Amino acid sequence: MATTNIVADFDAWQAALFAVLIKATKASNAVPAGDVAFYRTLDRSFASDMNEASSTTLDLCNRLLQQASGSTAEQLVNGDDVNDRFDIVVDVVDNMLEKVDIAMEEMKGLRKKVGSVIPQSAPIIASAKGDKLEYKLIHAQNIARPQVRFPDAVDNSSVRFIRKITYKPNAKVDLNYGMETVDGDSSQELVAQPHPYEYEISHLEYPQHMFEQIPEQLYTPFDTTSLIWVDTEEVLKDMCRTLEIQREIAIDLEHHSYRSFQGFSCLMQISTRDQDYVVDTLELRGSLHLLNQSFTDPKIVKVLHGAESDIIWLQRDFGVYIVNMFDTYHASKLLEFGAHSLAYLLKYFVDFDADKKYQLADWRIRPLPKEMLLYARADTHFLLYIYD
Ligand code: AMP
Ligand code: MN
Ligand code: ZN
Repeated sequence: MATTNIVADFDAWQAALFAVLIKATKASNAVPAGDVAFYRTLDRSFASDMNEASSTTLDLCNRLLQQASGSTAEQLVNGDDVNDRFDIVVDVVDNMLEKVDIAMEEMKGLRKKVGSVIPQSAPIIASAKGDKLEYKLIHAQNIARPQVRFPDAVDNSSVRFIRKITYKPNAKVDLNYGMETVDGDSSQELVAQPHPYEYEISHLEYPQHMFEQIPEQLYTPFDTTSLIWVDTEEVLKDMCRTLEIQREIAIDLEHHSYRSFQGFSCLMQISTRDQDYVVDTLELRGSLHLLNQSFTDPKIVKVLHGAESDIIWLQRDFGVYIVNMFDTYHASKLLEFGAHSLAYLLKYFVDFDADKKYQLADWRIRPLPKEMLLYARADTHFLLYIYD
């Protein structure tokens, strides 16, 4: 090996390296690992050979670690250390692999130098067949992180819930009702923040029409109902005006939490009796408080399916609250249906097959692929009919 010049003839150098590695691997495999301790006690010179080989190997490893991480690497002191602190090696190797990854992306032109925009790949559909159902994951590579553009900075240092709401439509009591200062300290940090609509929800008077038997109103055809993509404040305000004059509206959210600590809402679907909206909540995150006018209006029924998470996402990401909600999941429970998923209700009432492969889709992808848009829209399009 020493005779081959790595720069002048890399292939020859690599071949020589492999030959040596194979020889070393064969030799080490030939040692009966379980019996080493036994042979040590039998043969003094074997024991000293082993000690020498160990310390040479350890020294070699430490030199490699140091070379790979620029002398900042910690050192492994002895054999026990190799077992106990092997994560030192893993860290260094991880770093190297990451550097290789970045270099490969730069080479393929996917990644430019630091700070430049990385083009997003087309959506990739990965399927996996487990023991049971087939599931599919839709994702795109190199998505520019939407949270970088959020008007509110992401703060993972605390999971304390901070109110975003600053004004309160449809209020029966003041926004600060029930606020408690801790030990007389009035700084926001120390103030206990109750649910700002707790009073309105617990004193809710349901509108009369919710108690009347009203014939169901058939949904408009899925293919011909117009769909409005809401990604500007202007269109959002138009939508809000329309929502404020409805008797009931259907709402659903799509969320991204894959490799994300807190996650964030990516999409909000809203359907009236004759219109579907899909709101780009990444784009409009800072403006969605406008929805509180209709969402907290007790005269308007908000229909959701299994809304436990949706309610939290609305409050956490947008400061949006719901007063007067009807949850079709809980209705299906109370009515003792055979199953309670939205997919089941869609099949049962509408004979619509919801494609489950989109459930784990990456909802950050923009522009949103047509199939994902259709799937998202189906989550609310039929919901008012199911409510009926
Ligand atoms: P859905 O109400 O079914 O449209 O789901 C709303 C969001 O919940 C999705 O965008 C996902 O982020 C998450 N979600 C739904 N189903 C699953 C699941 N089976 N596993 C993990 N996350 C899910
Ligand atoms: Mn949902
Ligand atoms: Zn959904």
